[in-house]
Amino acid sequence: MRAVARCDLLGEVPFSDEVDLLFRPWLGPGFHATVEAVSGWMRAAGMTVRRDNAANLIGRYEGLTPDAPALLFGSHLDSVRDGGRYDGMLGVIAAIEVVAGFHERDERFPFALEIVGFGDEEGSRFPVTMLTTRAVAGVLEEDDPDAAFADLRDSEGVTISHALATAGLTPLGMAAARRSESDLVAYVEAHIEQGPVLEAEGRAIGVVSGIAAQRRYEVKLHGTAGHAGTMAMGLRRDALAAAAEIVLAIEKIAQSYDGKDGLVATVGSMRVWPGVVNVVPGDVVFTIDARAGSAATRDAAVASILELIENIAARREIEAEIIPRENLAGVPCDPELLRLLEAAVSDVTGQPARILVSGAGHDAMIMARLVPMVMLFIRCEQGISHNPAEAVLSGDVDVAIQALTDFVRRFAAVRD
Ligand SMILES: [Zn+2]
Repeated sequence: MRAVARCDLLGEVPFSDEVDLLFRPWLGPGFHATVEAVSGWMRAAGMTVRRDNAANLIGRYEGLTPDAPALLFGSHLDSVRDGGRYDGMLGVIAAIEVVAGFHERDERFPFALEIVGFGDEEGSRFPVTMLTTRAVAGVLEEDDPDAAFADLRDSEGVTISHALATAGLTPLGMAAARRSESDLVAYVEAHIEQGPVLEAEGRAIGVVSGIAAQRRYEVKLHGTAGHAGTMAMGLRRDALAAAAEIVLAIEKIAQSYDGKDGLVATVGSMRVWPGVVNVVPGDVVFTIDARAGSAATRDAAVASILELIENIAARREIEAEIIPRENLAGVPCDPELLRLLEAAVSDVTGQPARILVSGAGHDAMIMARLVPMVMLFIRCEQGISHNPAEAVLSGDVDVAIQALTDFVRRFAAVRD
C-alpha cells in the first residue's frame, strides 16, 4: 500500500519536470527532488544514505558485521517523457519496504543490504543510456574510454559535462562510482513486467530467466518505380507489395513460436520511395527487430526470416539487401539466484513460479557484467508501460515485497 502511494506521490511536481505529465530526466529538478524524498525513506528504513560519483543514490543497511559485502537491490529513478509512475521507481521503493521490514524486526544478515537508484536507464534526457549503471558496474571506461559521452547534449543544448557539474561531478570522475566484485554478493532488480504475460495468466509476480538476445537488421528492397496508371500489373516490380508480403510472413514465423523462449519479431519502421500516390513504389527500406531468451532460438527464427525474404524477393524479381545492424547477446540471470528466487516466489504465491524472458533491457543487464544478477517481474495492467496509464495492484506489490524478503533469507541460508 505504502509503496504504491510513494510511487504515486513521485508522479507529480516537484518530482516531475512537467506540470501535466510525468517526466523525470536524469539530473533535472524533478530528479533531485526525487533523490531527496527517496533518501528520507531510506533513512527511515534504517539505512545510511550516500550519493556516488555518478549521482546514483545508494542506501545501506548494515549486516551482522561492519563492512560486510552487500546484496544490492537496484532500479532506475528516471522516467521517459509522459511516462508511468512505476517503471523503474517501483523497484527502488519496493526494496525500501523489504529493508524496512528487516529493520523493524532488527533482522540482520551476514551481508549488508544496499539499494541503488540509478540515474539514466531510460536515456530520456541525453542520447545515451545507463551511463550511471555502467559506472557502478565498472565498465564505463571499457565502453567509452575517452568519456566521449561528455559532450552529448539534451534538447536544450546542455551537455552531460555541464549537467554533472551542477551536481559537483565530472564525466571522467564518474568511473569512481565503480564497485569492486568483492564488495557485492548479488544484484536483484524488481521491475514491472512491461508485458502482458503475468496478467494473462493471473499471476502477481514472475521470475526472469534472462534478458533477451536481440538482433536487428535493415532491409532494402529495390524494384522498379513506374507510372501507376500505365504500368501493367504483370510487369510490375513493386517494392512495397514485396515488403507487405514479407512483413506478414515475418509475423507468421514469429507467431509459429507461440511465445516459446520469448521469441518476438517486429518490423517497426518502413520508408517508401518515391512515396507518392501515382507512382508504383520502386524502393522500400524497413527494419527487423528479433528477440528471444536464447541466441539459438532467436537465430533460428532470424534464419527462417532471412530465407523467406530471399524467396519472396526472388519470386517478385526484387533486389533485396539485408544489412545486419545489431547483435546483442542475451544476458541470463544467475542460475543459483534464479533457483532461490523461484523457490521464494512459489512459497509466497502457493503455486510454481512462472519463469519468463525479459524482452526489454534493464539496469540488470549491465550489472550482470560485475555481479550475479536476478530479476523479479511484477504484473502491470495490460502490460502497458512508458505511458501514464501504467498501473499496478498494491496486492501484487505486497506479494513482490514478501517474495524479495523470503529471497534474502534463503540467500543468507545458503551462504551460511
Ligand atoms: Zn524501467
